[in-house]
Amino acid sequence: MSYEFDLFVIGAGSGGVRAARFAAGFGAKVAVAESRYLGGTCVNVGCVPKKLLVYGAHFAEDFEQASGFGWTLGESSFDWATLIANKDREINRLNGIYRNLLVNSGVTLIEGHARITGPNEIEVNGQRHSAKHILIATGGWPQIPEIAGREHAISSNEAFFLKELPKRVLVVGGGYIAVEFAGIFHGLGAQTSLLYRGDMFLRGFDGAVRKHLHEELTKRGMDIQFNADIARIDKQADGSLKATLKDGRELEADCIFYATGRRPMLDNLGLETTGVKLDKRGFVEVDDLYQTAEPSILAIGDVIGRVQLTPVALAEGMAVARRLFKPEQYRAVDYAMIPTAVFSLPNIGTVGLSEEQAIEEGHAVQVFESSFRPMKLTLTDCQERTFMKLVVDANTDKVLGCHMVGPEAGEIVQGLAIALKAGATKQHFDETIGVHPTAAEEFVTMRTPLKR
Ligand code: FAD
Ligand code: NDP
Repeated sequence: MSYEFDLFVIGAGSGGVRAARFAAGFGAKVAVAESRYLGGTCVNVGCVPKKLLVYGAHFAEDFEQASGFGWTLGESSFDWATLIANKDREINRLNGIYRNLLVNSGVTLIEGHARITGPNEIEVNGQRHSAKHILIATGGWPQIPEIAGREHAISSNEAFFLKELPKRVLVVGGGYIAVEFAGIFHGLGAQTSLLYRGDMFLRGFDGAVRKHLHEELTKRGMDIQFNADIARIDKQADGSLKATLKDGRELEADCIFYATGRRPMLDNLGLETTGVKLDKRGFVEVDDLYQTAEPSILAIGDVIGRVQLTPVALAEGMAVARRLFKPEQYRAVDYAMIPTAVFSLPNIGTVGLSEEQAIEEGHAVQVFESSFRPMKLTLTDCQERTFMKLVVDANTDKVLGCHMVGPEAGEIVQGLAIALKAGATKQHFDETIGVHPTAAEEFVTMRTPLKR
């Protein structure tokens, strides 16, 4: 049977673009359909614009600290509209780059919503296409719980396009997006409260890291409320919002921002015309080769709900392209030791196991910790402290996890991830000469275990 395309990718986001470009590079005839924006979530409403807003928020503390170094600054003010317009211009530029990347690698780009109409058939803009393989790379979408008045709340999708910076913001959730956006709003001058339903935010991160970040954010004046869950939202006569909490308290705000997880984007995708199965959480079920229950259909990225990070979607896209069209170069994605950062102010950077996970996995754990005032702050009034932690297997001396809360933690942890991937021991860390004077050198100078 002959098909119009060897591979039809649905979604030109992180994973889809990577798979399409590499497959075309290996000589396959490839099409990619995109309904919304080239580059997907990461480029348009995720990693990239988020990081730009974090940079924007960071200036507040830079201005504050500058006087300790002899600078006198004029009165500073912040204009949200300028930041958003400049961010939009940069995203437009990136959209163009993604278009060129696809077109120059020989991929047929079809702009429109793709609907699968059978195991080897897709319809876009009223036109049918056939393909030997279909790759679902449709990503995810914010999920706001079903509470009364949820239509008054916004998600990250809308936050990037607000007309003005709200004066009072309630951020709901305790994951990556909630913590990052609370930092953005707070840094830019909005009165910000972070509401999390549990005892401590950032479930899954190392306990000491969570505690340290909580202390630092509180020191900076952010209002953080744990065990706080909104029962309903009402719009008031003056246009402001009133959140009634499950414990009966009432909070007023101009914006209520929900970051309570993301569901797979399967809207009108036509999966019912195929044998594709979903897992218990509703994500597309795949095997180790990203194969769905329908032999001709594969899926990667956020839609499979494994690890919702751009570099993981990229790695999965590459693995699929290689397996289908360059099998001699195929290497399975290794999900161990994935480094990650939360771009809160200050950042969290982490790779490997938390202390709690290491104990749960049965390791005899040795813990090294350090908390110190960064050198840059010694000439300022800022009392922020940086935190670093190593989790080591006491029997093998292998470093199981590195964790940091502090400036540039995301940048620092990338290099440490290579060391951990290579199987570094604590002795390797000890024998490594530091770069002086840096914060990062602390990772190779921690000598006395805090606990065993
Ligand atoms: P996506 O990038 O979401 O791409 C899916 C694409 O498919 C979209 O463009 C969509 O329009 C399109 N599509 C969907 N359905 C159809 C259809 N039927 N037809 C045609 N097209 C369709 N990750 C990090 O690693 N670092 C970060 O700092 C980071 N920050 C983030 C901040 C926010 C606010 C958010 C929301 C996410 C962030 N992420 C971050 C996660 C990261 O963005 C995702 O993991 C990544 O984008 C997933 O890539 P993907 O290819 O699976 O899907
Ligand atoms: P997360 O899954 O990280 O966090 C969701 C949060 O919402 C959790 O604290 C969860 O609480 C809480 N929650 C879930 N349901 C409800 C509910 N019904 N009511 C109240 N609270 C609720 O999701 P995010 O939306 O923050 O981000 C999605 C994913 O995107 C992340 O997991 C990450 O993979 C990726 N991302 C990565 C970034 C990065 O690399 N820097 C930045 C942003 C996103 P509980 O813990 O109690 O379940």
